Amino acid sequence: MRNVKAKTIGSLFLLSLLMAVACIILLSITTHAKPDKVDGVNVPSGRIPQEIKDNKYPRTYFPGTERVGKNEMRITALGTGMPTQSPSNAAAAFLVELGNGDSFLFDLGTGSTDRLSGLETDYSKLDKVFISHLHTDHAGDLATLWVAGWIGGRYTPLHVYGPSGSAPKLGTKFHVDHIREAWAWDVTSRAGTLPNAGGEIVAHEFDYSKTAVIYDKNGVKVSSFPAIHIRDGSVSFRLEWNGLSFVFGGDSVPNKWFAKEAKDADVVVHECFFTPEQWMKIAGFPYKQAYWVTTVIHTPPEGFGKVMSMVKPRLAVAYHYWNHRDIELEIFEGVRKTYDGPLAMAADLTVINVTKDHIEVREVSFNHEAWAQGVSKEWDTAPRGAPATGLMSDWLKKGALKGVNPPPTQPIK
Ligand SMILES: [Zn+2]
Ligand SMILES: [Zn+2]
Repeated sequence: MRNVKAKTIGSLFLLSLLMAVACIILLSITTHAKPDKVDGVNVPSGRIPQEIKDNKYPRTYFPGTERVGKNEMRITALGTGMPTQSPSNAAAAFLVELGNGDSFLFDLGTGSTDRLSGLETDYSKLDKVFISHLHTDHAGDLATLWVAGWIGGRYTPLHVYGPSGSAPKLGTKFHVDHIREAWAWDVTSRAGTLPNAGGEIVAHEFDYSKTAVIYDKNGVKVSSFPAIHIRDGSVSFRLEWNGLSFVFGGDSVPNKWFAKEAKDADVVVHECFFTPEQWMKIAGFPYKQAYWVTTVIHTPPEGFGKVMSMVKPRLAVAYHYWNHRDIELEIFEGVRKTYDGPLAMAADLTVINVTKDHIEVREVSFNHEAWAQGVSKEWDTAPRGAPATGLMSDWLKKGALKGVNPPPTQPIK
């Protein structure tokens, strides 16, 4: 009798042990897999980024492998092309990451968010976009970042800083408010599943005609100044942090504000458009229209060179052309007629590391099958509302085929 009892207790113990092991295995599967932070920073699973010492940068930048140094700025060209983007040139966008942990996006043209996915970046940090003007090649991916960034890890609102226009409906606030309206079907359907605050998009519109500081937080100042591009409401930006400066020119002809505000900055990005002759060949425009586009509303290569000869940056960065081999070399020759200083002809995924004593220019190499990985643990527990209900008519729900999709294999609360 005692033996039987002992056997029963033994079996029960073994069974409990097996169940406990099974639970642990199940739990480790179901709670996969945001990695532990590395030194307080969210990184993709399996990555341990290191700070580069003594300016010994590897030839190639692999995303997630390098920590931005305490006194370093990392600038990544996400898009450097045209409104009609090509597979090698998405439209304008530059990412600036600072050693204090802050990230800033300058413009977010069509297609540029593809490059963000490839960087496997921490989307919870991508909550600030500075828009130079409201052409699609500078603002076309705002809605994509708003929603994809929210799914990918942002649990706070997306803040969009941009200029006013000559009338309220031509300003950034009107644009952002209408993005919110236009995507109501999308965003309200996700309520409850995703963190509430991440579903918000907030416009910070400022006066395009003034030179003024429009952002000042955590030791970072961003100022805006007027640009000359077809109509009222285009600007350029200067970011200052920790003794380093980055100037981002959206679209403009060479102008007096840029010549003044970009002076002596560390890295200066300015558009470098085609010549009229190139544009006739590329776009089939007659000379008159080609001159108008390339030289009256944009800056062709020789103009870019003259601007850089005036502002004398530590590094001049040219973008806003197709970097196809034949075209790019002609553009480079045009720039060199009027500027002989340090120069990077930016392609998509050119990456620039800047410290007080060194500038490194390289290319990013990334996995073309990468996606926006959620690395933000804070996203998991950020407050959510009740799941969206009442979005679908009863007759529509009743049309679902029963027993076709498999039932849950894990408890659902
Ligand atoms: Zn443009
Ligand atoms: Zn433009």
